[in-house]
Amino acid sequence: MNLTEDSLIAALKTRFQVPSPLVGIGDDCAIIPQGEYGELLTTDALIEGVHFLKSTLSSKDLGYKSIMVNVSDIAAMGGTPLYALLSMGLPREISPDFLPSFLEGIEEALRATHVHLIGGDTVASLQHIFINITIVGRVKLKEVKRREGAKPGDILCVDGYLGNSAAGLADLLKGAKSSSVVLEAHQRPRAHVGEGCWLAQSEQVHAMMDLSDGLAMDLPRLLEASKCSARIDLEKLPISSALSDWCKRTQKNPYSMAVEGGEDYCLLFAVAPGHLEKLKYAFQKQFGRPIFPIGQLRAPADCKVRYFLDGVACDLEVNPFQHF
Ligand code: ADP
Ligand code: MG
Repeated sequence: MNLTEDSLIAALKTRFQVPSPLVGIGDDCAIIPQGEYGELLTTDALIEGVHFLKSTLSSKDLGYKSIMVNVSDIAAMGGTPLYALLSMGLPREISPDFLPSFLEGIEEALRATHVHLIGGDTVASLQHIFINITIVGRVKLKEVKRREGAKPGDILCVDGYLGNSAAGLADLLKGAKSSSVVLEAHQRPRAHVGEGCWLAQSEQVHAMMDLSDGLAMDLPRLLEASKCSARIDLEKLPISSALSDWCKRTQKNPYSMAVEGGEDYCLLFAVAPGHLEKLKYAFQKQFGRPIFPIGQLRAPADCKVRYFLDGVACDLEVNPFQHF
């Protein structure tokens, strides 16, 4: 599925080129320059049966998550989200409870991200719920962070734990009901807007994206845009104590969960090596939590990710993240 998605997007990008300095297909958002600012545009759909099931996401959480996953793409560019458009395809026989709680979730996420809903579309769908959100945001052009721009030698960092959401999804699919850190990560992801804006202010952050499909799928997209390859040091991956306990319980490999797991919506970024310590310290001071260096960019332009464990090259079998 992913191969098809990436090759389809590559074909679209080649076919529908835009005049410079516009940025079209291929990054987390499109950019329309307006003076010293850029207008950011992003759109993403959530489809019942593909991205969620009624058993994995309540109506309220669906509303909340729909906004957050879209806002996350604005955060990935270092921008500020401003406006949202909401399109809903709803089956005729949908429960009357759906809409009030769905909209409550939308409202909560809009409030948390200071975004205004300014339009959308409402249609009937045959069987499944279909949600599509478009977000408009803004960024200072000299601060915008793209997927391109990372250089060999840059340190790759993430700003949050990896794999929690995938563990939550696995629990939900087995019928878990009671709340937990991993369930919360899956059902109530937070777009890292403050972090994205803050990181954007540093010229030493050369490239950035958000992790929606998981490191194994998303990192090659940054490598492709920046024309380099990467080394990931598995022992450095940020694995929460909740995920570590979960892996013991389920006999899963925590490194595989962190590398393959999708929907964590953390930021992945490349920092000039000489600036890492300063940035780590300043981030901790600003947000009261750390950033995690997880590897380094390398010169070969083959866009491959090579995994190491305690300094030794290792063959990690990577299975792409599937929502189900
Ligand atoms: P993300 O996971 O960050 O939301 P996507 O994988 O959805 O990114 O999309 C990657 C890039 O491809 C984005 O720039 C997006 O706008 C573009 N894209 C995806 N699907 C289409 C499409 N059907 N037509 C045009 N552009 C598309
Ligand atoms: Mg993205």
